[in-house]
Amino acid sequence: MDRSSAFSYRCGCCGLCCRDKVITLSPYDVMRMASVTGLGTAELISRYSLRRGSLLRFSHDGSCVFLRNGFCSIHSGRPLPCRLYPLGIESTAGTERFIRLEPAFGSIGVYAEEGTVGDFLDQQEATPYLSAVANYARLLPLMRKRIARLVDFERTEPAEFRRVAIREALAESGFDCNPLIDAIFDSDPWSGLAENGIRSPACHIIALRALIQAQSDALQLAAAAVLLAVSIGYTPADVITRL
Ligand code: SF4
Ligand code: SF4
Repeated sequence: MDRSSAFSYRCGCCGLCCRDKVITLSPYDVMRMASVTGLGTAELISRYSLRRGSLLRFSHDGSCVFLRNGFCSIHSGRPLPCRLYPLGIESTAGTERFIRLEPAFGSIGVYAEEGTVGDFLDQQEATPYLSAVANYARLLPLMRKRIARLVDFERTEPAEFRRVAIREALAESGFDCNPLIDAIFDSDPWSGLAENGIRSPACHIIALRALIQAQSDALQLAAAAVLLAVSIGYTPADVITRL
């Protein structure tokens, strides 16, 4: 589906979509969640995320850590996948495609065609999130270019290089220190917050561009590229073929 496709959904507030899910977080999601909880991005990541800020944490009973009495306690700062639900988005370079996700088992939400996907996105105030995703995605070609400069793929087996980068990016524990991944998700030192009190993805992206250009460890850069790409909705397969 695209933005003009017929779609509407009426939420019945059953809270079932906030359980037993894997929800990826973009750097902008982390910023917005930090703002609504009043935490710094470092603390938000440590308390409420997994995989270095790129996954929302769920409790042992399967419910999201922000679910309280069946309601989202960070509604105004909920991440993009929660805003889009029950739609998902598939991003590839320069294109977006929306898919209808399977409803949560027992959900009382009502699907209809009383508007368009675009209307639904407006109702969910998803536009700044989608714009941020598009802007962070522009870092990926820069990262690929820098990797190509640093690695001699005549002497380094590309498939093995990609395999190690992906393993390192997607590890939930036991991963190596990676200051670039830290800077991608823990954005407070780079987002303008210290200067003007406002978290700005634009400032963060400018800082990340400089950090990418200064990075000399190709494997760290590749792991950061994979994790950034996955966090903004690219499939691992898409990242693999482009790295
Ligand atoms: S952040 Fe809110 S909407 Fe998203 S899964 Fe958690 S409780 Fe549900
Ligand atoms: S499963 Fe559907 S109806 Fe239930 S809370 Fe989630 S969006 Fe609303």
